[in-house]
Amino acid sequence: MLTRLYPRLRLQIGFADLIFSLFSGILKQNSQPPPILKQFQQGDKQVLVKLSVRTAFDLLLQALNLPPGSEVLMSAVNIRDMGEIVRRHGLVLVPVEIDFDTLKPDIQQLEALISPQSKILLVAHLFGAVIDIQPLIEVCQKHQILVVEDCAQAFCGESYCGDPQADVSLFSFGSIKSCSALGGAIASIKDSTLAEQIRQIEASYPQRSELWFYRRVLKYCGLKFLSLPVIYQQLIAILLKLKLDPDSTINALTRGFSGGDLMTKIRYRPPQGMRQLLWHRLRSFDNLWFKIREAKARLLIANLSPEIVYPGNQTDFHSFWVFPILADNPDWLIQNLRENGFDATRGNTSLTHFHPHFENSGNYLTPEHLSEKIVYLPLSEALPDEEIVRLAQIVNSFLCKPIPA
Ligand SMILES: *Cc1c(COP(=O)(O)O)cnc(C)c1O
Repeated sequence: MLTRLYPRLRLQIGFADLIFSLFSGILKQNSQPPPILKQFQQGDKQVLVKLSVRTAFDLLLQALNLPPGSEVLMSAVNIRDMGEIVRRHGLVLVPVEIDFDTLKPDIQQLEALISPQSKILLVAHLFGAVIDIQPLIEVCQKHQILVVEDCAQAFCGESYCGDPQADVSLFSFGSIKSCSALGGAIASIKDSTLAEQIRQIEASYPQRSELWFYRRVLKYCGLKFLSLPVIYQQLIAILLKLKLDPDSTINALTRGFSGGDLMTKIRYRPPQGMRQLLWHRLRSFDNLWFKIREAKARLLIANLSPEIVYPGNQTDFHSFWVFPILADNPDWLIQNLRENGFDATRGNTSLTHFHPHFENSGNYLTPEHLSEKIVYLPLSEALPDEEIVRLAQIVNSFLCKPIPA
């Protein structure tokens, strides 16, 4: 009989932070900006706080006001909404394939795809890896292409606050992201005129209400409680008994903004409570915490048999926000992991592949990997070492067995 189930994703915000936020209205506020802000500024960049990365990216495209038909070169893998925002601005999304092992965009392909219409490169750091974007920046500078890096999955404390040469760096503190503030994003912007235009456009947005945020904090207090392994085990058992699919139920619960048109949902100014929580989180996070998370991932890797394949196995710098592996029969693996106390999922990051006619002419991260094979293991800094070894052993034993008919 199972007594605990390790959830697919540990919310990276503590009860103490949530309680801080509930009472932040009546507490005396520390108005000093967090020291890490200096790192986001990197000299003289403008640092803006927005409701979300999607809000910031949409604002950027509004400010740039590119002629329709302009091309946005984009990592072929990102969340669906980032592609949707590009299209909603009448721009053409040109996907650049991602190397499976290094998670870097194929630079030769990038060069071949550049045309006089290419105006922006949106490069995504995936799964918590941080790739070196210097070579991409060099290519883009030759063609006057604006380099925007999507660091939504890559915040890992002071180790990386954006490439100093990137035109725009975007960090998300959404509900499932590292150092979560239940929303909020930081945009570091090199061109101060562009930053000012963004500020002006955003000034006309309505503000999300304090009540909206307060309810969100309460909701996450509840979710945090439900994700305690002893409670979570009961929750999943009940969902299964009710014949509800745990995957879709949980993913629906943790979505940043529910239902309705994307653009209407993101075009808001953040409430004061969200800003305060974000400042609080950025003031009090611990760099060591990220080192522990990485060490746990390295321990898992050391115990996985070499046949187990995972994207990003050749990265130079990886903070392991999530840990995906490939499985030929992901549902079977997930079921077996669950029976052994580990809750894995096929898609809690809702990553999508933008290439409609994909041909694997290299060693790329493919649409099939994402839709048919990927399984995110419930790795977290809170898993005891012996549980990580057990997790690796279960994965090894199931992936090396023949698939049942
Ligand atoms: C989460 C995520 C976003 C969106 O971040 P929000 O702050 O929720 O808008 C964008 N890109 C990637 C790669 C993400 O993982």
